[in-house]
Amino acid sequence: MSAVSTEDLPHRSLAASRLARLPKVCLHDHLDGALRPATVAELAAECGHALPEREPQALRRWFAESADSGSLVRYLETFEHTVAVLQTASALERAAQEYVLDAAEDGVVYAEVRWAPEQHQRSGLSLEDAVAAVARGLAEGEAAAARRGAAVTVRQILCAMRHAERSLEIARLATASRALGVVGFDLAGPEDGHAPSAHREALRHCAEHFLPVTLHAGEAAGTGSIREAVLEGRSLRLGHGVRILRDVSAGPEGAALGENVSRFPGNGHSRPDAEGLALGDLAAWVRDRGIALELCPSSNLQTGAAPRVADIASSADGEGARPAAEYREHPVELLRALGFTITINPDNRLMSGTSMTHEFVRLKEEFGYGTEDFLEVTMNAALAAFLPADRKNELVEQVLAGYSGAGA
Ligand SMILES: [Zn+2]
Repeated sequence: MSAVSTEDLPHRSLAASRLARLPKVCLHDHLDGALRPATVAELAAECGHALPEREPQALRRWFAESADSGSLVRYLETFEHTVAVLQTASALERAAQEYVLDAAEDGVVYAEVRWAPEQHQRSGLSLEDAVAAVARGLAEGEAAAARRGAAVTVRQILCAMRHAERSLEIARLATASRALGVVGFDLAGPEDGHAPSAHREALRHCAEHFLPVTLHAGEAAGTGSIREAVLEGRSLRLGHGVRILRDVSAGPEGAALGENVSRFPGNGHSRPDAEGLALGDLAAWVRDRGIALELCPSSNLQTGAAPRVADIASSADGEGARPAAEYREHPVELLRALGFTITINPDNRLMSGTSMTHEFVRLKEEFGYGTEDFLEVTMNAALAAFLPADRKNELVEQVLAGYSGAGA
């Protein structure tokens, strides 16, 4: 185990300590995006992988700056390093164990952590052994957290890489690995140009075996990708899904609405007025069926995934909206006002320099979130978890118990 302290995690400030204690449910978090910098450095030394920085603090900065650079090449380079050091069972086990401990520190009581087994075979590891290693690490992490008094459960979502051709194999791995805590299937990697329909067989396999699916959709591509995710993928949640706003139009009341929406950021924390906005069939399906959006605001600002809230009403289909660059420009509150089931997630704790607590702090600062708001998004996540009903009820009870008497 690493001796690294979690004291220097981004959320460790006095102001954040109350928010850190709120029980959280985390549905969208990548294992290879969540490594501790010190662990990356130690694992790299063990396997002889060259890193751009050796010292953990410098490495942490390098990851954050590369992810923030606006260059996709530099952003993707960060994952080359984390994936490169996770090529053995022991490295995966350690990463999974530390993930649970960091999640517990972050107030997380339930998480589904996702990763792509096919990316961890460079040293000859089998897919099955890779999944078993992560399962061992998660179980060890849960036990270690319990010894510290934290009740946290972490399940796995297996991702197939959408630009590769192994999705059916990974879907079969996922349905065969339920006893190891695998609860879902995802498609990750470049969304644009790699639609869910290219992975029809894998998605059919999941459906026929009743394995829940959540797909990255509406992050780097638009409504076509979301449409395929819900139709081909029978996706029960959407990874990001933020571009569903391209299927929301201002309608005949556009002018008045544009004023309402554009006045929203910085208008004293009032919620945007969604009245007059018209939902297309796809957006209505996602909203009305309660297909949860796994929103990751900090990550979206880095990748330019989210349309700027003030631009949405002034463009007919959101295509012309500039990407949100500041947290307060993220359309999280507009989506909520429109009635979408929103959840809040880190995506990549290391690259985005974030945590659940950090996102909560930012939501409080920029949108005035209080206890009731945090409870709402946490309940949304608990109810959208890929758990059986009885376990989900226990999770809801656990969250409610943690909120009783909590002040945010
Ligand atoms: Zn993601």
